[in-house]
Amino acid sequence: MADTPRRRIDVAEAAALIRGRLRGWGTVRVPIDAAQGEILRQAVTAERDQPPFDRVTMDGIAIRHSAFAAGTLTFQMAGTQGAGSAPLPLQDETSCVAIMTGAALPPGADTVVPVERITREGQTARIEPGYVPVAGQFIHRRASDHPLGATLLSSGTLLGPPELAILTVGGSATVEVARRPAITVISTGDELVDVGAALGPTQIRSSNGWAITAALASRGFLDCERVHLPDDPAVLKRELGQLLAEQDVLILTGGVSMGEFDYVPRVLQDLGMELVFHKVLQRPGMPLWFGISPDGKPVFALPGNPVSSLVCLVRYVAPALVAALGATTRPEPVVRLGQDVRFEPDLTYFLPVRLDYTVDGTCLAVPKPTNTSGDFVALSGTDGFVELPRGILEFPVGYSARFFAW
Ligand code: AMP
Ligand code: MG
Repeated sequence: MADTPRRRIDVAEAAALIRGRLRGWGTVRVPIDAAQGEILRQAVTAERDQPPFDRVTMDGIAIRHSAFAAGTLTFQMAGTQGAGSAPLPLQDETSCVAIMTGAALPPGADTVVPVERITREGQTARIEPGYVPVAGQFIHRRASDHPLGATLLSSGTLLGPPELAILTVGGSATVEVARRPAITVISTGDELVDVGAALGPTQIRSSNGWAITAALASRGFLDCERVHLPDDPAVLKRELGQLLAEQDVLILTGGVSMGEFDYVPRVLQDLGMELVFHKVLQRPGMPLWFGISPDGKPVFALPGNPVSSLVCLVRYVAPALVAALGATTRPEPVVRLGQDVRFEPDLTYFLPVRLDYTVDGTCLAVPKPTNTSGDFVALSGTDGFVELPRGILEFPVGYSARFFAW
C-alpha cells in the first residue's frame, strides 16, 4: 500500500488509473440474434465476393450494347429472369432477357435498359426513340464492393444495425463478442427507501441505483443487479464480501465521505481491497473511491448525492467498462458553451447541459446547473454534462468543452 495515492488527484489521472486497472472478462460466442449492442471480438471476413455475380440493379431488359450501337432498337425476348434464378443466355445479337433487380446478368448481355425506357409488344421489346443506354449501365459488377476473404469488421467494433447486416455476409450464424461482467449496484444508507414502499418523514427515496442501472443498460450492460445495504459496518462487510465472491464488478453509492456513518472505505479496506484512489479534484463527485479486490475485481464507490453518483458513473465507470470489453472507442464529442460560465473553485466542473443545434450546424451546450448535487430533478431535459477544466475562472460563450451523454 506504500505507493497508494493519498493525495487528491485530478480527473485525467483518475480516469487513467481506472482504465489501467480494468482487465476485461473474456469472450463468448453468441448467435447473431443476441449480438446487437455487443462488442465484436473477432475479425469478420467475407465468405464470397460481393456481389457474388454481376448483379442487375434495375428492372428492364438485358441486351448486348454492340447491337444497340449497330442500330438495333427492337429486341426479341429470350425469356424472363428473376432474382435468384439461373441466368438465361442471350440467343443472338438482337435477343434480350426481361430481367429483374437482383438477378445475375445473362451470359452475352452487358447492359440493362430500364423497363421505363422500353415498350413491349408480345415477344419484342423496343427501346424508346432517342434513349441512349450507356454500355455496362445498371450492372453492379462481381466483387466490386469487396472480394472473398476481405476484412468486413474488425475486433472492437460495436455491433449496431449496419454491422448486424454485415455479419450475414461473413457467413457464420454465431459470433465471438466480449463477455459482459456481472455487475451489482449497491445503494448504501439507512435513510433510503425503495419506490413503492412506505416512507417515514426523515426517509428518502432511493434513486441512484435506477439512474446508474439505466446508464449501464444503455451501454449494453443489461441485467445489472440492484441491492440496498444499511450504514452498518458488520452488515456491509458480510454482504460486500459475499457479493465480491460472486460478482465481477461492484458499484457502490453513498457512505464514502467524512461522516461518522460513512463506513464504506473502511469496510472495503477491511476486505483486503487495494485502494487505488480516494477523492478527485472535481465537482460534483469529490469523494469518488476506486479500488481493486485481492482477486483483481474493480470496486467503484461513488458519492451518494444523486447528481454526483450519476456524473461519476458516466465520466469514469461506464467508459472504463466499455473500454475493458475491448471496444474501439472514440473521444467524446466537443461542443461549444451556449452561455458564459464562471466557476471559482480550483476543481474540474461537470456542468449539466442541454444540447441545442444552431441552423449553421453548431452544437451548443446550454448550461442547466443544479441547485446542489442532490438536486437530480434539475437534470430532467438535460442530455449530459460538459467537463470544464480546473484552473480557469471564466469560460466564455463559445468555449469548446468535452461532452458526456447520460
Ligand atoms: P452520502 O454520500 O451517503 O453521505 O449521501 C449523500 C446524500 O445523498 C445524502 O443526502 C443521501 O441521503 C443521498 N443519497 C445517498 N444515496 C442515495 C440514493 N441511493 N438515492 C438517493 N439519494 C441518496
Ligand atoms: Mg449515506
